Amino acid sequence: MKHFANRAGGFRPSAVRDVFEVAMRPGIISLAGGNPDLDLLPLDELGAMSARIIEKEGLEVLQYGSGAGLEELAELVCEFMKSEGSSPALEEIQMTAGSQMGLDLATKLFVNPGDVILAEGPTYTGALGTFEGYEADVRQVALDGDGLDPAAVREAIKAIQSEGKEVKFLYTIPNFQNPTGVTLSDDRREELTRICRELDVLIVEDNPYGQLSFDGLRHRSLHSYDPENVLYLGSFSKVFSPGVRVGWMVAPERVRKFLQIAGEAVTICPSVLSQRLVLGFMAEGMWEPHTRRTAALYKERCEAVLAACEKYMPEGTTWTTPSGGFFTWLTLPEGGKYADAADALAPAIENGVVFVPGSAFFETVDGKNPGANQLRIAFSSVEPTVLEEGVKRLAEVL
Ligand code: PMP
Repeated sequence: MKHFANRAGGFRPSAVRDVFEVAMRPGIISLAGGNPDLDLLPLDELGAMSARIIEKEGLEVLQYGSGAGLEELAELVCEFMKSEGSSPALEEIQMTAGSQMGLDLATKLFVNPGDVILAEGPTYTGALGTFEGYEADVRQVALDGDGLDPAAVREAIKAIQSEGKEVKFLYTIPNFQNPTGVTLSDDRREELTRICRELDVLIVEDNPYGQLSFDGLRHRSLHSYDPENVLYLGSFSKVFSPGVRVGWMVAPERVRKFLQIAGEAVTICPSVLSQRLVLGFMAEGMWEPHTRRTAALYKERCEAVLAACEKYMPEGTTWTTPSGGFFTWLTLPEGGKYADAADALAPAIENGVVFVPGSAFFETVDGKNPGANQLRIAFSSVEPTVLEEGVKRLAEVL
């Protein structure tokens, strides 16, 4: 690749985005996209609010702003973090253009080419893309129904350290994980943070779905157990709007300053207009009721998918039972029609349904992809009756 930097060799097209293009075709039911449903947003109120912001604060919101982000919004974020047991100082908040930017900044700041990042297996494809772009050596630890097993994490870190390599951080999505929907059990949280502290490994905690709990239960953040060793990523994408591109990071002040410098090199400052809109949404009390209403919607959709799986999926197929978020994760039976779910994609599209094959969420190990026999179903943006039909079409193919 003449002219290209070495790191470009690690860029891989997002498998998920390829599938999204198919998902837009008429007649196709998409179980692929992890998009929030925006239908419940109070658009009239938001429209009036946007007009007010421009009229009253136009000269400020259309100007460059602080590299750390809008202080008033950071104050509300500090308040919000208390609901997960954390109490960060204002100086520890860095606003971002979404979690994806936070992942990029954290990797840019901590990871040299060849350094090891430990992640969940399976994990968010966008994180794998970022890590590979920085030429990291990504290793994955298998998840079970309660999330990461702390003992397995300890073993993996020790094995890597005994190779003479440094594990730069553990990347984890503890709540309603993408792609499995699985949640780290409360009793594992303290142990996991303790092990990482003991073995001198940072934790990057990515929590875009945590508020979308079906039973209203909020889990304590890993950050709350060890704020000095956990970098927390928050996002307004799933509970408000991914289009506004606003999220935040929480890090000890000495780290937060570097994140700000790294962030300024990318966007100079987070969008002031977008942050004002998010601030208005929160400050005018729309946040909590909207979160509650959308979580109830997702719960209903999740139940529809699980019931349809029960009704239509081939015998031996298993799936996770999420308690929040957007996704469930299927494992195909051994000896079934498809050993690799990716081979079922074209026939599924032919049959009017699209999903994301499990291999997209794993690194290949010794020429094998550990997620080949698995697949992700997203239920967040599809009506229950359509979800049922989608699962039926998928089951017909499988
Ligand atoms: N992390 C995870 C686990 C996600 O699922 C997503 C969105 N798909 C992101 C980060 C990126 O979110 P944002 O829109 O906040 O950049």
